[in-house]
Amino acid sequence: MSKPIKKILVILLLLIVLPLGYMFYSQFASIDEYEQNIRSAYLSQLETILFSINQYSEDVLRNWINQSEISQENINRLIKENKSLISIVEIDSSLVDFQISKIDADVFDLGKAIRSNSYLFQRLRNYQKNNYQKLGSIDLDSSKKLIIYANSNDSFSGFIIDKKQFITEKLVPKINSIPAHKFSIVILDFKGNIINEGNSLKNKIDFMKNLWLFPDMKLGIILKGESVDELTKEKQESSLIILLLLLVVVILLSFAGYSNIKKEFELIKMKSDFVDNVSHELRTPLSLINLYSETLSMGRINNDEKKSEYYKIIHQESERLSQLINKILNFSKIENGKSTYNLIKKNLNEIVEQVYGLYSLQLMEKGFELKLNLADTNLFGHFDEAAIKEALINLLDNAVKYSFDNKEITISTGKENKKIFLAIADKGIGISKQNQRKIFEKFFRVSEGDVHNAKGTGIGLTIVMHIINEHNGNIEVESKESFGSTFKLSFPVINQEE
Ligand code: ADP
Repeated sequence: MSKPIKKILVILLLLIVLPLGYMFYSQFASIDEYEQNIRSAYLSQLETILFSINQYSEDVLRNWINQSEISQENINRLIKENKSLISIVEIDSSLVDFQISKIDADVFDLGKAIRSNSYLFQRLRNYQKNNYQKLGSIDLDSSKKLIIYANSNDSFSGFIIDKKQFITEKLVPKINSIPAHKFSIVILDFKGNIINEGNSLKNKIDFMKNLWLFPDMKLGIILKGESVDELTKEKQESSLIILLLLLVVVILLSFAGYSNIKKEFELIKMKSDFVDNVSHELRTPLSLINLYSETLSMGRINNDEKKSEYYKIIHQESERLSQLINKILNFSKIENGKSTYNLIKKNLNEIVEQVYGLYSLQLMEKGFELKLNLADTNLFGHFDEAAIKEALINLLDNAVKYSFDNKEITISTGKENKKIFLAIADKGIGISKQNQRKIFEKFFRVSEGDVHNAKGTGIGLTIVMHIINEHNGNIEVESKESFGSTFKLSFPVINQEE
């Protein structure tokens, strides 16, 4: 890899890695923020709901307070109507005497519970003095609670309630009445087990809050459908997919950009080689023409045989020059889209025979054996005669240039699979599989091996390919290094009547 290409590669990599790295970082940072936003949105929603449930349980008790104050009859009715209300307690200001409206078989030491919570009674009394009747709660055992409040006459009243019963009787219907499409509200006991729903949901609880009346119990919220974690995970996954897609696109684009730039550099290099090669190709025949014409003009050569040999060289070299100039002009026309072809019905065999007639002697002189295998039948197609001749001459030229020891060239024509073909086979140096794909590209020349010894411009096969395409034809190359190459041109066949 050349230095400038390496530099471009490093710059491209930096251009990809830095912004993408930043994007990955900021995307994941924003996911954290996203999670926090959802959490705080749900948390405030939950707080509102839990507040209303807590408020409701207090309302129930305050309602009981109002009802129980009127008469013993009311107390009896209240206890009868509310299964969760076990009994009502009246406690005197000294906290020593107390009366229970109804006591069932459950054993608990109410006196001890009252005395050991004297600080709570004190606090409730203080609230009362400030005209606020606050509720306090005392655990009697794992299932019963005493909810107390201070009266205006310094005494206290209280309700002994069954927690579980209170929850199922009062709170669950309240919870069920809350329209909750997107979440369920659950109540958890002191062990963390769900009371009002299946315990399997235990691990899915998104947020929890304590119940005011029963601080050892909790209210929880479970998001239906997707939990916050699931939502965040989903967001994370979709961000990751988008980023990965982006990464793939950026990599593909930069790969395309890189290979384009690489191609451009290669083209620049090939163009400069082309200029060198053309200059060399021009200089050689020119200096030969110069040398022999000068020698002849000085009248130093008296031998007729030598003279005609020199004239022949001058003729051959000027031929070579005009061929090269024609080749470059034709290539330039193709490049500028100015080449035109006049396709008319012709017999391919005849065109090939004419080229063979012109070249066989020349090639024989160069030590080549030129074989001709023409099809027995006429091969009619639509051809631009001059262009087909040019293609054939270019291929013959290459066969000569790239054959060193085994100087045998065969031209064949024929009909195959409803096509007519023309094949030029040599036993020269051959072309590697890898290079077979590139030889038709403009300015491309195989740069390794013996090929260096043969001069060329790298445009001959580009011209051939263009000519064949303009004939709706096809070109195939079959070659093996050190064994030779066959270039096969095929064209659509036409009927004799056409
Ligand atoms: P050039 O002027 O270099 O011959 P071409 O376009 O005609 O340009 O050919 C491109 C390259 O293909 C050549 O440089 C040569 O490496 C390879 N090539 C073409 N024809 C043959 C052949 N018959 N045998 C071996 N190599 C060939």
